[in-house]
Amino acid sequence: MGLLSERLTIDAIEVEVRRSTRRKTRIGLAFDPAGLVILEAPMDASYDDLASVVTEHGRWLRHRLAAVQDEARCVSPPQYGSGELLQYLGEAYELIVDIGPRKVMRRERDPQQRLFQDVRGIVGTITVRLPDTDSRRVKKAIDRWYGKEAQRLFAESLHRLRALPWLEDWAGDWRVRFMRSQWGSCSVSGRIMLNTHLVKVPERLIDYVVLHELCHLVHHDHSHRFYALMRVHMPDWEARRDELNAYLPLLLHE
Ligand SMILES: [Zn+2]
Repeated sequence: MGLLSERLTIDAIEVEVRRSTRRKTRIGLAFDPAGLVILEAPMDASYDDLASVVTEHGRWLRHRLAAVQDEARCVSPPQYGSGELLQYLGEAYELIVDIGPRKVMRRERDPQQRLFQDVRGIVGTITVRLPDTDSRRVKKAIDRWYGKEAQRLFAESLHRLRALPWLEDWAGDWRVRFMRSQWGSCSVSGRIMLNTHLVKVPERLIDYVVLHELCHLVHHDHSHRFYALMRVHMPDWEARRDELNAYLPLLLHE
C-alpha cells in the first residue's frame, strides 16, 4: 500500500522502503509476517545504497520468498467447477455451476441447516448459471460478480468512514481492480485504487485498507504522523493488518 516510490523492485525482488529519521546510517533488512521484504533506511539513503543491501542478501531473500510462495500454492487456485469453495467476506461458499440463462447468485444457508454443515464451514452457495460452462467463462463471470460486489462493498466502507474531517476536500476518486502485489494504493493526486480480491476478506479488514489509503490523502508516506493518524481513527489497526496478512495468498491467484 502507499505510493509507488516506496515500493522498489531490485534484482526482481519487490521491496518496501520505510524511511525514518531515527535511522542514521545503516539500512536494516526485515521480513514482515507475510513475506514482504522491508528495508528500513535513513531519510537520505540513495537507490544504490538500497540496491546493494538487496544484492548482498539476494540468495537468502529469494529462498524466503520461495518458501512464502510454496505456502500460497498449498491454497490451491480454483478450477471453477461445482463443489469448489469461493471466499466472500471471509466466509466460504460452495460454487454451483449450472447451465441456463446468464446469472450469478449468492445464497446464505438457512442457519438451521448450518448446524449440519460440513467441516469446510460453508455458509452458503454461489450459483453461476451460464449458457456455456467452460471453466474460463465461469471464472470470468465470477470475477465480474466480484467486481460488482467490490464496488458496492467498498462504497459502503467509504460511507462508514465518511466522518473523517479531511474527506471534505477529496474528490472521491476511487477505483477497483484485481492487483497482485498490493491491497490498495493512493496516488499523489488523490486517486485511490482498491484490490477487488478484498471482497474475499472480512469487512473489518476492508475498512482497515480503505482507512490506510484515506490516511495517505493526508500523509503520502508511512511516517510516524501517518501511523499516528491511523491510530486515532482505528486503534486496533495493527491487529487488523496482521489478520489481513493471512489472506496474502489470495493476491497470487490470477
Ligand atoms: Zn501505504
